[in-house]
Amino acid sequence: MDERYSRQILFPGIGKEGQAKISTKHVLMIGAGALGSGNGEILTRAGVGRLTIVDRDYVEASNLQRQQLYTEEDVALKLPKAAAAEKRLRAINSDVEIKAIIGDATPPMLEDLVRDVDLIIDATDNFETRMMINDISQKYKIPWIYGACVGSYGMSFSIIPGKTPCLNCLLRTIPMQGLTCDTGGIISPAVQMVIAHQSAEALKMLVEDWDAVRTSFVSFDLWRNQYTSLKMGKAKFAGCLSCGEERTYPYLDQENMTKTTVLCGRDTVQIRPSTQGAISLEKLAGQLDSLGYTVKGNPYLLSVEMGIERMVIFNDGRALIHGTKDLTHAKSIYQRILG
Ligand SMILES: [Zn+2]
Repeated sequence: MDERYSRQILFPGIGKEGQAKISTKHVLMIGAGALGSGNGEILTRAGVGRLTIVDRDYVEASNLQRQQLYTEEDVALKLPKAAAAEKRLRAINSDVEIKAIIGDATPPMLEDLVRDVDLIIDATDNFETRMMINDISQKYKIPWIYGACVGSYGMSFSIIPGKTPCLNCLLRTIPMQGLTCDTGGIISPAVQMVIAHQSAEALKMLVEDWDAVRTSFVSFDLWRNQYTSLKMGKAKFAGCLSCGEERTYPYLDQENMTKTTVLCGRDTVQIRPSTQGAISLEKLAGQLDSLGYTVKGNPYLLSVEMGIERMVIFNDGRALIHGTKDLTHAKSIYQRILG
């Protein structure tokens, strides 16, 4: 083990003691896209004890330009990102206990997952999930590292409950509108820069070098050659509903209902059924096939061609309907296939 991690142990900030700490820690990573690929790989190579990955999507050709864990084979097989990431990361470092969860991060799921988690990495592409992570972090006093990028622009901030302002506090001072959903194009170096900031902060936290953790909000634009670091000491808001004195954790207060959302920057609607339970993809494939649909699939999902739209159904009953942003239309397609 010393040989494997020797260069990291030689680094004074980590050392033998730091390495021993890293190997006992559990990191929860929400998202396995571009940021998740890079952070997941760095933490796995660094020898983190456990890594739990949650992702709701599957690998597509447009991911390969920047999502470094995936290959053309993953695209051809339509593998869920969590499953493909788990496979690749296990091949990189078999010491790390990797757990992949194919699904949409919800408050009950996160509450269940974070019990023995030391750190949460934000590798999502949407604000709704980030605000949920933010509330979970405050409620269970677990640090998390925010990261986002679009185009050649990126930003990162480390949130330590009780010490730094939270993301909900920051919304009062930093204009984040327009970055709530990554709709623009993106270049890979911007992703890598955010990954570098997030994973460096992660290593500091895993070795418990809290004084080294960056307290400023960093943002950059690699195309315009801009780099800024904003002090955030005064951003903490006493009345914040996520971290203030009278906190209510508003983003954990979700009704357990059928949930329909348009996915960020894509002609895709996600439908999550109110009661999540395993469905038999094999049986469904047989039924759809006999009705004349073209069905393809793997053990994790089914892809059904339906003219302009294509529907992907996961074995928990969740579905992605590609080719539309119309929620009502998407729901009618879902009803037609899954009743
Ligand atoms: Zn706050």
